[in-house]
Amino acid sequence: MTISADTSPRQRALRAALDAAADIVGADRVEIRLGPEGEPVPAAHRPNVSEFRSRDVPGVIAPRTVDEVRQVVRAFAGAGRLHPVSTGRNWGLGSAEPARDDAVVLRLDGLDRVRDLDTARGWAVVEPGVTQGGLARLLTGTDRLLNLTASSAHTSVVGNALDRGVGLRRQRVDDVLGLEVVLADGTLAHVGWWPDPERPTSVYRHGLGPSLAPLFLQSDLGVVTAAAVHLPPRAEARHVLRLSFAKQDLVPAIDRLRRWSAQGLVSGVLKVFDFTAAEFYGGAVGGFLAHVCVEGTTASAAALADVVRAEAAGLFTEEPGPPTDLIARTVAGLYAGDPALNDEVLAATLGHHADDVDRHGEGWLFFLPMVPFTGADIRHALGLLDRVLEETGVRCGATLNALGPDLVDFVVPVKFRRTAEESARAHRALDRVHELFAAAGYPPYRLDVDHADLVDRLSPDPAARDLARRLKSALDPTGTIAPGRYA
Ligand SMILES: Cc1cc2nc3c(=O)[nH]c(=O)nc-3n(C[C@H](O)[C@H](O)[C@H](O)COP(=O)(O)OP(=O)(O)OC[C@H]3O[C@@H](n4cnc5c(N)ncnc54)[C@H](O)[C@@H]3O)c2cc1C
Repeated sequence: MTISADTSPRQRALRAALDAAADIVGADRVEIRLGPEGEPVPAAHRPNVSEFRSRDVPGVIAPRTVDEVRQVVRAFAGAGRLHPVSTGRNWGLGSAEPARDDAVVLRLDGLDRVRDLDTARGWAVVEPGVTQGGLARLLTGTDRLLNLTASSAHTSVVGNALDRGVGLRRQRVDDVLGLEVVLADGTLAHVGWWPDPERPTSVYRHGLGPSLAPLFLQSDLGVVTAAAVHLPPRAEARHVLRLSFAKQDLVPAIDRLRRWSAQGLVSGVLKVFDFTAAEFYGGAVGGFLAHVCVEGTTASAAALADVVRAEAAGLFTEEPGPPTDLIARTVAGLYAGDPALNDEVLAATLGHHADDVDRHGEGWLFFLPMVPFTGADIRHALGLLDRVLEETGVRCGATLNALGPDLVDFVVPVKFRRTAEESARAHRALDRVHELFAAAGYPPYRLDVDHADLVDRLSPDPAARDLARRLKSALDPTGTIAPGRYA
């Protein structure tokens, strides 16, 4: 830990805030990495799966109730900084690391209640420690499902949504109906739609007046202690077609997939793996494979599947029968709201269980740009990855998540052995991918902890960034919450 000689009053205040936190949440739920006068003490190295530099983290606080969170936030005002995480499994982007040094990690996985669930109206109120596996289990046998991601079943519904993660139905922000937020002065606010305990109200996220909930996504303005999330209806019937195509047919194949999306043939997020990505995740190798989900009543889903098959003829080859490959089986389960195989994919990808991937096994980085959904753009983006391979020797993967007819979440994973040399090479490749994609007009929609400062450079208008800073200084004048997060 590096602390300059003139910082000891600040360090003493921080130590006092950590002691106050121990009184609030219990000493067994606070880890203090400072001596009695706030002096640094040697701490065990905390590796993360991406080999990002471990930040200087002077402590970890793990409250269990909203009231404890409010008291901790108040205790830190002007005395220290807090980096909130839910389950802290933001693998590839920083895991539980704060963007900046000297922030105390506020772990919220101890707030783990599903506070309310209404399958008739299609919503749940969940705390940050509720995992996608846990909520999906509660929905088994109901006519609602959870929009699941391909990450571990042990990841947080709230944490992923707050970072604008992507599920198999849609981007997770579209699930967010409302948020419960602790502001820097300890105020508790419910923004967006929130259930009224006295009477049911129509589930309408925008309410009246300016929409406030989006202010707390990828945000340093508050600590989220619960979210109301929408649960989409479960389709009566579903077919997931697996359609492979060759590299030389990339442009017409992507344009054909786009057409199906634009014409409403496809349900959920249409997914395309390139051969490198499929291999990374433990799947079959060779060419490209699209997973196309069609849903509806028994008759309409069957009819749609036939339409897609007819449209696919000559350009795609359909894989016959039920899926046998791990990825294909997992994707089929995810469209159906079942994350049973997610952790098998994680183990195949990174070699370990969710609790261990940060400490052992393969290295993993993510670059996550948005790319227009056209064959020409996808070819161009894949060409940029070829250039990175030529320049750095690092082969990146690509998974395309079509979020509608116009936009693709173009997921670029970088897998590497966690030696100093390979890790340095992988990070060089990541920097290069950032540069090339930004120059091509394909900016990232999520940032890792080492690239958090790109927000200014990538924002279209400095006045908008200035507005964000004015909001920050109005709501959190002492800069207590999430320093450097998308800031
Ligand atoms: C094999 C593999 C597959 C993956 N597949 C996907 C995928 O399909 N889709 C996808 O989106 N990601 C995917 N990921 C990435 C990642 O694992 C998930 O996004 C995961 O959900 C993030 O971790 P988390 O849920 O624990 O969130 P956290 O790490 O807890 O939160 C993410 C960030 O949000 C902020 N935050 C969290 N909680 C709060 C709070 N309560 N208040 C204020 N701010 C908060 C923090 O800045 C935090 O760093 C994958 C990773 C791997 C390795």
